[in-house]
Amino acid sequence: MTLERYKQKRDFGRTPEPVGAPPRPGTDERGGGRFAVQRHRATRLHYDLRLEIDGVLMSWAVPKGPTLDPAARRMAVHVEDHPLEYFDFEGTIPRGEYGAGDVIVWDWGRFEPEATSDPGAAVRAGELKFRLAGEKLRGSFVLVRTRRGGAAAGGAGGSGRDDREDWLLIKHRDGDARPGWDPETHPRSVRTGRTNDEVKADAPAIWRSDAPNAEARIDLQGAAPAAMPDWIEPMKATLADAPFDDPDWLFELKLDGYRVEAVVRDGAVRLWTRNRQDAAAYFPELARRPRWIEAREAIVDGEVVALDQVGTPRFTLLQGRLRNVSPAGSGGGGPAPAALSYQVFDLLYLDGRSLLGVPLEERKRLLQLVLRDDPLVTYPSHVIADGVAF
Ligand code: MN
Repeated sequence: MTLERYKQKRDFGRTPEPVGAPPRPGTDERGGGRFAVQRHRATRLHYDLRLEIDGVLMSWAVPKGPTLDPAARRMAVHVEDHPLEYFDFEGTIPRGEYGAGDVIVWDWGRFEPEATSDPGAAVRAGELKFRLAGEKLRGSFVLVRTRRGGAAAGGAGGSGRDDREDWLLIKHRDGDARPGWDPETHPRSVRTGRTNDEVKADAPAIWRSDAPNAEARIDLQGAAPAAMPDWIEPMKATLADAPFDDPDWLFELKLDGYRVEAVVRDGAVRLWTRNRQDAAAYFPELARRPRWIEAREAIVDGEVVALDQVGTPRFTLLQGRLRNVSPAGSGGGGPAPAALSYQVFDLLYLDGRSLLGVPLEERKRLLQLVLRDDPLVTYPSHVIADGVAF
Protein backbone atom coordinates (compact mmCIF):
# COMPACT_ATOMS: atom_id res chain seq x y z
CA MET A 1 0.00 0.00 0.00
CA THR A 2 2.86 2.34 -0.80
CA LEU A 3 2.96 5.90 -2.01
CA GLU A 4 4.27 4.60 -5.36
CA ARG A 5 0.88 3.06 -5.97
CA TYR A 6 -0.69 6.46 -5.41
CA LYS A 7 1.53 8.03 -8.08
CA GLN A 8 1.16 5.19 -10.60
CA LYS A 9 -2.61 5.55 -10.57
CA ARG A 10 -2.68 9.27 -11.33
CA ASP A 11 -1.84 11.66 -14.17
CA PHE A 12 -0.78 14.79 -12.35
CA GLY A 13 -1.06 16.81 -15.52
CA ARG A 14 -4.78 16.24 -15.40
CA THR A 15 -5.90 15.79 -11.80
CA PRO A 16 -5.81 18.62 -9.26
CA GLU A 17 -4.73 16.14 -6.57
CA PRO A 18 -1.29 16.77 -5.02
CA VAL A 19 1.82 14.95 -6.27
CA GLY A 20 3.10 14.86 -2.72
CA ALA A 21 6.56 15.02 -1.24
CA PRO A 22 8.40 11.87 -0.13
CA PRO A 23 7.22 10.39 3.18
CA ARG A 24 8.38 12.33 6.16
CA PRO A 25 7.64 11.73 9.79
CA GLY A 26 5.22 14.26 11.20
CA THR A 27 3.88 12.16 13.99
CA ASP A 28 4.36 12.75 17.68
CA GLU A 29 6.35 10.52 20.01
CA ARG A 30 3.31 8.42 20.84
CA GLY A 31 2.71 7.74 17.17
CA GLY A 32 -0.22 10.13 16.87
CA GLY A 33 -0.79 12.59 14.07
CA ARG A 34 -3.49 14.17 11.99
CA PHE A 35 -6.47 12.44 10.49
CA ALA A 36 -8.88 13.43 7.78
CA VAL A 37 -12.00 11.92 6.30
CA GLN A 38 -12.93 12.89 2.76
CA ARG A 39 -16.39 12.36 1.33
CA HIS A 40 -15.71 11.23 -2.20
CA ARG A 41 -18.42 10.85 -4.81
CA ALA A 42 -16.66 8.68 -7.36
CA THR A 43 -18.26 5.80 -9.26
CA ARG A 44 -19.68 4.97 -5.86
CA LEU A 45 -20.00 7.26 -2.88
CA HIS A 46 -17.52 6.47 -0.13
CA TYR A 47 -15.66 8.14 2.69
CA ASP A 48 -11.86 7.98 2.78
CA LEU A 49 -10.44 7.67 6.29
CA ARG A 50 -6.80 8.79 6.37
CA LEU A 51 -4.48 8.49 9.36
CA GLU A 52 -1.07 10.15 9.46
CA ILE A 53 1.27 7.24 10.17
CA ASP A 54 4.99 6.93 9.37
CA GLY A 55 5.00 10.03 7.22
CA VAL A 56 2.11 9.13 4.93
CA LEU A 57 -1.67 9.08 5.12
CA MET A 58 -2.64 5.43 5.53
CA SER A 59 -6.06 5.17 3.96
CA TRP A 60 -9.26 3.15 4.06
CA ALA A 61 -12.30 3.60 1.81
CA VAL A 62 -15.46 3.26 3.88
CA PRO A 63 -18.50 2.88 1.59
CA LYS A 64 -21.13 3.73 4.22
CA GLY A 65 -18.93 6.21 6.02
CA PRO A 66 -17.64 6.24 9.57
CA THR A 67 -20.20 6.49 12.33
CA LEU A 68 -20.38 7.15 16.06
CA ASP A 69 -22.85 4.26 16.34
CA PRO A 70 -21.08 1.42 18.20
CA ALA A 71 -23.56 -1.13 16.86
CA ALA A 72 -22.48 -0.49 13.26
CA ARG A 73 -19.60 -2.46 11.75
CA ARG A 74 -18.47 -0.53 8.73
CA MET A 75 -16.63 -2.24 5.93
CA ALA A 76 -13.37 -0.42 5.18
CA VAL A 77 -11.18 -1.31 2.21
CA HIS A 78 -7.50 -0.63 2.80
CA VAL A 79 -6.29 1.43 -0.15
CA GLU A 80 -2.96 2.92 -1.17
CA ASP A 81 -1.13 5.35 1.10
CA HIS A 82 -1.65 8.98 0.19
CA PRO A 83 0.89 11.80 0.58
CA LEU A 84 0.51 14.13 3.54
CA GLU A 85 -0.43 16.93 1.15
CA TYR A 86 -3.70 15.10 0.50
CA PHE A 87 -4.83 15.93 4.03
CA ASP A 88 -6.98 18.94 3.07
CA PHE A 89 -7.58 18.17 -0.60
CA GLU A 90 -11.00 19.29 -1.74
CA GLY A 91 -12.03 19.59 -5.34
CA THR A 92 -13.14 17.83 -8.47
CA ILE A 93 -11.15 15.02 -10.07
CA PRO A 94 -11.82 15.24 -13.80
CA ARG A 95 -13.84 12.69 -15.70
CA GLY A 96 -11.69 9.88 -17.01
CA GLU A 97 -9.10 10.23 -14.25
CA TYR A 98 -8.63 7.77 -11.41
CA GLY A 99 -11.27 8.43 -8.73
CA ALA A 100 -13.13 10.91 -10.95
CA GLY A 101 -15.71 12.79 -8.90
CA ASP A 102 -15.95 15.40 -6.20
CA VAL A 103 -14.17 15.39 -2.85
CA ILE A 104 -14.80 17.39 0.30
CA VAL A 105 -12.89 17.42 3.58
CA TRP A 106 -15.69 15.92 5.61
CA ASP A 107 -13.79 15.83 8.91
CA TRP A 108 -10.31 16.46 10.24
CA GLY A 109 -8.42 16.60 13.52
CA ARG A 110 -5.93 14.57 15.56
CA PHE A 111 -5.61 10.84 15.85
CA GLU A 112 -3.79 8.94 18.58
CA PRO A 113 -3.08 5.20 18.60
CA GLU A 114 -4.21 3.24 21.64
CA ALA A 115 -2.26 0.40 23.20
CA THR A 116 0.74 1.00 20.93
CA SER A 117 3.15 3.75 20.00
CA ASP A 118 3.83 2.10 16.63
CA PRO A 119 0.58 2.36 14.68
CA GLY A 120 2.33 1.33 11.44
CA ALA A 121 3.22 -2.03 12.97
CA ALA A 122 -0.32 -2.38 14.30
CA VAL A 123 -1.72 -1.84 10.80
CA ARG A 124 0.65 -4.44 9.36
CA ALA A 125 -0.47 -6.82 12.10
CA GLY A 126 -4.10 -6.25 11.14
CA GLU A 127 -5.57 -4.38 14.10
CA LEU A 128 -5.30 -0.75 15.16
CA LYS A 129 -7.10 0.82 18.09
CA PHE A 130 -7.13 4.60 18.07
CA ARG A 131 -8.83 7.74 19.29
CA LEU A 132 -10.05 10.58 17.11
CA ALA A 133 -10.50 14.21 18.09
CA GLY A 134 -12.19 15.67 15.04
CA GLU A 135 -15.05 18.03 14.46
CA LYS A 136 -17.55 15.25 13.76
CA LEU A 137 -15.79 12.04 14.80
CA ARG A 138 -14.61 11.68 18.38
CA GLY A 139 -13.63 8.96 20.77
CA SER A 140 -12.25 5.48 20.46
CA PHE A 141 -12.40 3.25 17.36
CA VAL A 142 -10.84 0.05 16.09
CA LEU A 143 -9.84 -0.97 12.57
CA VAL A 144 -9.50 -4.72 12.21
CA ARG A 145 -8.51 -6.70 9.12
CA THR A 146 -10.92 -9.42 8.08
CA ARG A 147 -9.48 -10.42 4.73
CA ARG A 148 -5.83 -10.28 3.75
CA GLY A 149 -4.56 -8.89 0.51
CA GLY A 150 -3.18 -11.62 -1.74
CA ALA A 151 -5.71 -14.15 -0.53
CA ALA A 152 -7.69 -15.98 -3.18
CA ALA A 153 -9.90 -13.35 -4.68
CA GLY A 154 -12.18 -13.55 -7.64
CA GLY A 155 -14.61 -15.82 -5.84
CA ALA A 156 -17.53 -14.18 -4.15
CA GLY A 157 -16.28 -10.65 -4.69
CA GLY A 158 -15.25 -11.26 -8.24
CA SER A 159 -13.43 -7.97 -8.33
CA GLY A 160 -10.32 -9.56 -9.72
CA ARG A 161 -8.20 -7.40 -7.43
CA ASP A 162 -6.11 -9.90 -5.60
CA ASP A 163 -4.47 -7.36 -3.28
CA ARG A 164 -7.70 -6.14 -1.82
CA GLU A 165 -7.75 -5.98 1.97
CA ASP A 166 -11.08 -5.80 3.75
CA TRP A 167 -11.20 -4.34 7.22
CA LEU A 168 -13.96 -3.35 9.63
CA LEU A 169 -14.20 0.06 11.27
CA ILE A 170 -16.02 -0.07 14.59
CA LYS A 171 -16.78 2.62 17.15
CA HIS A 172 -16.02 1.59 20.71
CA ARG A 173 -18.68 2.12 23.35
CA ASP A 174 -17.54 5.24 25.16
CA GLY A 175 -18.80 8.68 26.04
CA ASP A 176 -18.64 9.76 22.40
CA ALA A 177 -20.76 6.89 21.08
CA ARG A 178 -24.08 7.96 19.51
CA PRO A 179 -26.49 5.16 18.58
CA GLY A 180 -28.05 5.73 15.18
CA TRP A 181 -25.58 8.47 14.20
CA ASP A 182 -25.58 8.90 10.41
CA PRO A 183 -22.68 10.62 8.60
CA GLU A 184 -24.98 11.59 5.73
CA THR A 185 -26.84 13.99 8.02
CA HIS A 186 -23.59 15.96 8.45
CA PRO A 187 -22.86 16.69 4.80
CA ARG A 188 -20.70 19.80 4.84
CA SER A 189 -16.99 20.28 4.44
CA VAL A 190 -15.21 21.21 7.65
CA ARG A 191 -12.78 23.14 5.50
CA THR A 192 -15.11 25.34 3.45
CA GLY A 193 -18.66 24.66 4.61
CA ARG A 194 -19.54 23.36 1.14
CA THR A 195 -21.40 20.19 0.19
CA ASN A 196 -20.18 17.84 -2.54
CA ASP A 197 -22.79 19.35 -4.86
CA GLU A 198 -21.39 22.80 -4.26
CA VAL A 199 -17.84 21.64 -4.86
CA LYS A 200 -18.97 19.91 -8.03
CA ALA A 201 -20.62 23.12 -9.21
CA ASP A 202 -17.41 24.87 -8.14
CA ALA A 203 -19.62 27.16 -6.13
CA PRO A 204 -17.38 29.67 -4.49
CA ALA A 205 -18.23 29.82 -0.82
CA ILE A 206 -18.89 33.47 -1.34
CA TRP A 207 -21.31 35.66 -3.24
CA ARG A 208 -18.70 37.27 -5.50
CA SER A 209 -18.56 35.01 -8.49
CA ASP A 210 -15.40 36.71 -9.74
CA ALA A 211 -13.44 35.80 -6.63
CA PRO A 212 -10.81 33.10 -7.07
CA ASN A 213 -11.57 29.96 -5.14
CA ALA A 214 -8.67 30.51 -2.79
CA GLU A 215 -10.34 33.64 -1.50
CA ALA A 216 -13.75 32.09 -1.56
CA ARG A 217 -13.25 29.75 1.35
CA ILE A 218 -15.11 30.30 4.52
CA ASP A 219 -12.68 30.68 7.38
CA LEU A 220 -14.15 28.78 10.31
CA GLN A 221 -10.99 28.60 12.38
CA GLY A 222 -12.75 30.52 15.14
CA ALA A 223 -15.54 27.94 15.41
CA ALA A 224 -15.55 26.03 18.68
CA PRO A 225 -17.06 22.58 19.25
CA ALA A 226 -19.82 23.02 21.82
CA ALA A 227 -23.21 21.67 22.74
CA MET A 228 -25.95 23.92 21.41
CA PRO A 229 -27.37 26.27 24.04
CA ASP A 230 -31.14 26.74 24.30
CA TRP A 231 -30.72 30.37 23.33
CA ILE A 232 -28.08 33.03 22.86
CA GLU A 233 -28.85 36.57 23.92
CA PRO A 234 -29.00 38.62 20.70
CA MET A 235 -26.63 41.55 20.39
CA LYS A 236 -28.68 44.70 20.63
CA ALA A 237 -28.29 47.95 18.73
CA THR A 238 -26.72 50.97 20.37
CA LEU A 239 -27.48 54.58 19.53
CA ALA A 240 -24.87 56.72 17.80
CA ASP A 241 -24.87 60.48 17.40
CA ALA A 242 -24.37 60.53 13.67
CA PRO A 243 -23.84 58.26 10.67
CA PHE A 244 -20.23 57.40 9.88
CA ASP A 245 -18.16 55.56 7.34
CA ASP A 246 -15.52 52.98 8.27
CA PRO A 247 -14.06 50.17 6.14
CA ASP A 248 -13.94 47.93 9.22
CA TRP A 249 -17.69 48.03 9.61
CA LEU A 250 -20.60 46.32 7.90
CA PHE A 251 -23.68 48.44 7.32
CA GLU A 252 -27.18 47.07 7.24
CA LEU A 253 -30.64 48.58 7.03
CA LYS A 254 -32.62 48.86 10.22
CA LEU A 255 -35.61 46.62 9.69
CA ASP A 256 -38.83 47.68 11.33
CA GLY A 257 -40.12 44.46 12.79
CA TYR A 258 -39.59 42.01 15.62
CA ARG A 259 -36.20 40.62 16.46
CA VAL A 260 -36.54 36.83 16.51
CA GLU A 261 -33.96 34.16 17.24
CA ALA A 262 -34.68 30.75 15.71
CA VAL A 263 -33.23 27.72 17.48
CA VAL A 264 -33.37 24.71 15.16
CA ARG A 265 -32.93 21.22 16.50
CA ASP A 266 -33.64 17.92 14.75
CA GLY A 267 -36.39 19.17 12.47
CA ALA A 268 -38.11 21.42 15.01
CA VAL A 269 -37.68 25.10 15.74
CA ARG A 270 -38.19 27.35 18.73
CA LEU A 271 -38.70 31.06 18.22
CA TRP A 272 -37.61 33.59 20.80
CA THR A 273 -38.00 37.33 21.07
CA ARG A 274 -34.96 39.35 22.05
CA ASN A 275 -36.12 39.15 25.67
CA ARG A 276 -36.57 35.41 25.45
CA GLN A 277 -40.32 35.37 25.17
CA ASP A 278 -41.74 32.50 23.16
CA ALA A 279 -42.63 33.98 19.76
CA ALA A 280 -44.19 30.89 18.19
CA ALA A 281 -47.76 31.98 18.92
CA TYR A 282 -47.23 35.21 16.99
CA PHE A 283 -45.63 33.62 13.95
CA PRO A 284 -47.13 30.14 13.59
CA GLU A 285 -45.99 29.87 9.93
CA LEU A 286 -42.40 30.11 11.11
CA ALA A 287 -42.88 27.71 13.99
CA ARG A 288 -43.48 24.82 11.60
CA ARG A 289 -40.86 22.30 10.61
CA PRO A 290 -37.92 24.46 9.48
CA ARG A 291 -37.35 23.34 5.90
CA TRP A 292 -35.67 26.65 5.15
CA ILE A 293 -32.30 25.64 6.57
CA GLU A 294 -29.97 22.74 5.90
CA ALA A 295 -28.85 21.97 9.39
CA ARG A 296 -29.57 19.56 12.18
CA GLU A 297 -28.83 22.18 14.82
CA ALA A 298 -28.60 25.92 14.27
CA ILE A 299 -29.20 29.24 15.95
CA VAL A 300 -30.21 31.98 13.55
CA ASP A 301 -30.69 35.67 14.33
CA GLY A 302 -33.05 37.82 12.31
CA GLU A 303 -36.00 40.16 12.16
CA VAL A 304 -39.57 39.22 11.37
CA VAL A 305 -41.20 41.90 9.24
CA ALA A 306 -44.63 42.29 7.68
CA LEU A 307 -44.60 43.40 4.07
CA ASP A 308 -47.15 45.64 2.42
CA GLN A 309 -48.41 45.24 -1.16
CA VAL A 310 -45.17 46.56 -2.64
CA GLY A 311 -42.91 44.63 -0.32
CA THR A 312 -41.98 47.36 2.11
CA PRO A 313 -41.76 46.33 5.76
CA ARG A 314 -44.55 48.02 7.75
CA PHE A 315 -44.45 47.80 11.50
CA THR A 316 -48.12 48.79 11.74
CA LEU A 317 -49.09 45.67 9.78
CA LEU A 318 -47.14 43.57 12.23
CA GLN A 319 -48.86 45.23 15.18
CA GLY A 320 -52.24 44.46 13.67
CA ARG A 321 -51.18 40.88 13.35
CA LEU A 322 -49.96 40.63 16.93
CA ARG A 323 -53.19 42.09 18.28
CA ASN A 324 -55.06 39.32 16.55
CA VAL A 325 -53.26 36.71 18.58
CA SER A 326 -54.98 35.99 21.83
CA PRO A 327 -54.38 33.08 24.16
CA ALA A 328 -58.04 32.08 24.15
CA GLY A 329 -58.18 32.13 20.37
CA SER A 330 -60.94 34.74 20.54
CA GLY A 331 -59.15 37.23 18.36
CA GLY A 332 -60.93 38.54 15.36
CA GLY A 333 -61.42 41.68 13.41
CA GLY A 334 -58.49 43.90 12.58
CA PRO A 335 -56.71 44.04 9.25
CA ALA A 336 -56.05 40.99 7.15
CA PRO A 337 -52.77 39.23 8.01
CA ALA A 338 -49.89 40.75 6.13
CA ALA A 339 -47.22 38.69 4.35
CA LEU A 340 -44.57 37.69 6.83
CA SER A 341 -40.89 37.63 6.06
CA TYR A 342 -38.14 36.41 8.37
CA GLN A 343 -35.06 38.37 7.35
CA VAL A 344 -32.15 36.37 8.72
CA PHE A 345 -28.82 38.11 9.07
CA ASP A 346 -26.64 36.05 11.38
CA LEU A 347 -25.78 32.44 12.20
CA LEU A 348 -24.55 31.92 15.75
CA TYR A 349 -24.33 28.13 15.93
CA LEU A 350 -24.27 25.33 13.37
CA ASP A 351 -24.14 21.55 13.78
CA GLY A 352 -21.93 21.11 16.80
CA ARG A 353 -20.00 24.35 16.62
CA SER A 354 -20.41 27.74 18.21
CA LEU A 355 -19.69 30.44 15.64
CA LEU A 356 -19.44 33.32 18.09
CA GLY A 357 -15.65 33.39 17.60
CA VAL A 358 -15.95 33.46 13.80
CA PRO A 359 -15.84 36.85 12.05
CA LEU A 360 -19.29 38.20 11.12
CA GLU A 361 -18.55 38.18 7.37
CA GLU A 362 -17.70 34.48 7.55
CA ARG A 363 -20.86 33.74 9.52
CA LYS A 364 -22.91 35.54 6.89
CA ARG A 365 -21.27 33.54 4.12
CA LEU A 366 -22.04 30.29 5.91
CA LEU A 367 -25.60 31.40 6.62
CA GLN A 368 -26.23 31.97 2.92
CA LEU A 369 -24.86 28.51 2.21
CA VAL A 370 -27.19 26.72 4.59
CA LEU A 371 -30.34 28.64 3.65
CA ARG A 372 -32.70 26.91 1.26
CA ASP A 373 -35.14 28.70 -1.02
CA ASP A 374 -38.21 29.44 1.03
CA PRO A 375 -40.89 32.10 0.58
CA LEU A 376 -40.89 32.90 4.30
CA VAL A 377 -37.19 33.24 5.01
CA THR A 378 -34.83 35.62 3.26
CA TYR A 379 -31.26 36.74 3.59
CA PRO A 380 -31.42 40.53 3.20
CA SER A 381 -29.34 41.55 0.21
CA HIS A 382 -28.58 45.05 1.35
CA VAL A 383 -25.61 44.43 3.61
CA ILE A 384 -22.78 46.71 2.58
CA ALA A 385 -19.12 46.24 3.42
CA ASP A 386 -16.45 48.46 1.97
CA GLY A 387 -18.66 49.39 -0.95
CA VAL A 388 -19.60 45.78 -1.78
CA ALA A 389 -23.12 44.50 -1.33
CA PHE A 390 -23.57 40.95 -0.16
MN1 MN B 1 -11.67 7.89 -2.55
